Amino acid sequence: QNLTALIEQCVREIPDYPKPGVMFKDITPLLADPKAFAAVVEAVAGAYEPSAVDYVIGLEARGFILAAPVALELAAGFVPIRKAGKLPARTFRESYDLEYGTATIEMHTDAIAPGSRVLIVDDVLATGGTGRAAVELVRRAGGTVVGFSVLMELAFLKGREKLSDVELRTLTTV
Ligand code: 5GP
Repeated sequence: QNLTALIEQCVREIPDYPKPGVMFKDITPLLADPKAFAAVVEAVAGAYEPSAVDYVIGLEARGFILAAPVALELAAGFVPIRKAGKLPARTFRESYDLEYGTATIEMHTDAIAPGSRVLIVDDVLATGGTGRAAVELVRRAGGTVVGFSVLMELAFLKGREKLSDVELRTLTTV
């Protein structure tokens, strides 16, 4: 499909970033291309009825860039989920395992009203640890995850298995 080809054209691979052996998908060329950026925002937002989404949540940091225009497109609110220590008010926190150590992400406890319908957006789904923790944060706040949308899924890392209880949509799979 056209969009898949466009994304593959605009996302470049950076070897050994952030550490040896990792092939990092760099989405900055896609963001710098207004047609590609618009097509991606359109494709993510277009899968949902505006009336069915109360908040679009972006995962720090690249998720913010995609989630904000998606939120405007759906006339929904934008809510950030951030790395530990970045949000100023009271937060829920969730930790998850990394290859070495753990990571923690947070969401303001009052960011979404209980019963809210939430779409989570990020750039890349890798191991699924971040996504899983984000889903837990939304549920702790009483929200319902109506969708989880990413630009690119790295299938070999099997992140999808950690998100089997949400409706996952991926624009490209590699
Ligand atoms: P996970 O928790 O699924 O292993 O990692 C997903 C998070 O790490 C996402 O927030 C994503 O932005 C980032 N990430 C992991 N690998 C890549 C990659 O190759 N390219 C980009 N752009 N982000 C990545």
